[in-house]
Amino acid sequence: MMITLKAGKEQSLLRFHPWVFSGAIARMDKGVEEGDIVEVYTSHGDFLARGHYQIGTIAVRVLTFDKDEAIDEAFYTRRITEALELRRDNGLVDNPNTTAYRLVFGEGDYLPGLVVDFYEGTAVVQMHSVGMYKDKDLIEKALRTVLGDRLKAIYNKSEGTLPFKAGLNPVNSYVWGHTDSREARENGIVFVPDWEKGQKTGFFVDQRENRALIEKYSKGRRVLNMFCYTGGFSMFALRGGAEFVHSVDSSERAIELTEQNVERNFPGCTNHKAFAQDAFHFMEQAKEKYDLIVLDPPAFAKHVGVLKNALKGYRRLNAKALQIIEPGGILFTFSCSQVVSREEFRTMVFTAATQAKRRVSILHFLSQPADHPINIYHPEGEYLKGLVLKVY
Ligand code: SAH
Repeated sequence: MMITLKAGKEQSLLRFHPWVFSGAIARMDKGVEEGDIVEVYTSHGDFLARGHYQIGTIAVRVLTFDKDEAIDEAFYTRRITEALELRRDNGLVDNPNTTAYRLVFGEGDYLPGLVVDFYEGTAVVQMHSVGMYKDKDLIEKALRTVLGDRLKAIYNKSEGTLPFKAGLNPVNSYVWGHTDSREARENGIVFVPDWEKGQKTGFFVDQRENRALIEKYSKGRRVLNMFCYTGGFSMFALRGGAEFVHSVDSSERAIELTEQNVERNFPGCTNHKAFAQDAFHFMEQAKEKYDLIVLDPPAFAKHVGVLKNALKGYRRLNAKALQIIEPGGILFTFSCSQVVSREEFRTMVFTAATQAKRRVSILHFLSQPADHPINIYHPEGEYLKGLVLKVY
């Protein structure tokens, strides 16, 4: 099946950007169906790329720029092998201390539309494109080949990530194997990712390195972990010797998970408390004094249209934390909104600091870890940004 671009619309593909926008298409073979593998050609008839076709703004997600590379089981096996090697480079494979990592991160691993998180034997797969979903059997086989004995089960969790209109009606379920084990480790701390009912694939592996950093700053500090979800930052603050840790999340379920995780790692722990409350409300009413605060809110902006309002929300949140933090305190502040650039994020924190009238220095620029690689031709893959600040 063939798609031909309008004259001049091949530029981004020549620079290896992995998307074709629908507006760039001049014509398309009859009978191309959503999820099909298509070949993309210039108006002069030169081959550009091969990828998955989808109805919508992003019409083609490119899988290969190599004319001779077919999209079959061997293709997925090659790509997933590369992905595993990259994680091995990063010390994540067969590491008994860290058994949770992202094995495939879409465009960053040259597999647009596919996310796979690995939790100690279970691969939780999320398909974000119809084409990936249609190729699910190939992908499952490739995962089994590449992971070998490490793999105990594959859980497909694509119910919430595929376009509803495609009519695929996916059901979240185990598609291969079985395991009763739910535990996964991050730098020695045990978590229980709940891929069936939890958010995303059940755990946020992307904060691993930033959680490791908080451990170093926690000794003797009174810690407030806002938007705690499963309590990741809280656990590392506790291990780092915090005087006490307060975890806050608006979801009752998240608070339950946090409390279970604390009990699992620090049985009988008496210096942790969790609160199911709105973050803004909690900070307005905060009675305790805190000298380490973590702000890791959900993406306030999912698209550019709401960027301005999102920045206002981030600013209000950061200004509040900067007002209440004790002199000499440390603030870990994040945004996981892809549409908020590093520059905008930093400017927002700058404005929040001026509003709070505090002296503030930047100690660290934080990012997503190497198991969330950013394809250099696809800057959209860069989403997580954070700053560690000293506040006087
Ligand atoms: N820091 C976490 C991930 C945070 S995800 C980690 O390390 O794993 C964002 C969390 O914010 C979700 O758990 C969500 O329930 C929570 N949340 C969303 N809106 C909130 C609000 N207004 N107040 C408090 N928590 C909120």
